[in-house]
Amino acid sequence: VNYKVFNVIKIMQETLELLSPQALMDNVEFRTFYEKDELNTYCEPNHIKQVFINIIKNAIEATVENNTAEKIVSVSISRPNNRWVKIVIEDRGKGISEEKLKCIGEPFYTTKEKGTGLGLMISYKIIKEHDGKIEVASEMNKGTTFSIFLPLKKKKK
Ligand code: ADP
Ligand code: MG
Repeated sequence: VNYKVFNVIKIMQETLELLSPQALMDNVEFRTFYEKDELNTYCEPNHIKQVFINIIKNAIEATVENNTAEKIVSVSISRPNNRWVKIVIEDRGKGISEEKLKCIGEPFYTTKEKGTGLGLMISYKIIKEHDGKIEVASEMNKGTTFSIFLPLKKKKK
């Protein structure tokens, strides 16, 4: 593992670029809001990228599974206070019921025919290793919001 001070926004931009062919194919539009150009955390950038990929892929898949949904996945990165970088990934997809919400992130829990049920488990583990946290809010047939918090690291000038 290779920890360093790294710009979370840059990781996100690379992630969205990587996923843009899939979004294009599924007719899903990415909308981004970045509060600043640079918000740093102390991290292993490839692991954080893996988390972003997992959660955004799920968001795209949930969007496709909801025929009536607006096909938009919104990503915002902000700095709510001196402690955290906050990354919010929001879809308007099929949503997660209250009882299923308790199961997501458990190893091999999937509702997909070809799912592995590992993406969120790995993501939770990686965020924990970075002393961060993840919150999920969802409403059936309305959409789901994943909020990731990572410790803010100010770059020494
Ligand atoms: P997989 O994608 O292989 O099923 P994940 O660990 O990534 O495994 O997700 C586990 C389950 O959580 C999914 O099968 C799905 O039921 C649910 N889920 C995750 N993200 C979303 C989302 N954005 N909208 C609706 N359901 C979701
Ligand atoms: Mg997944």
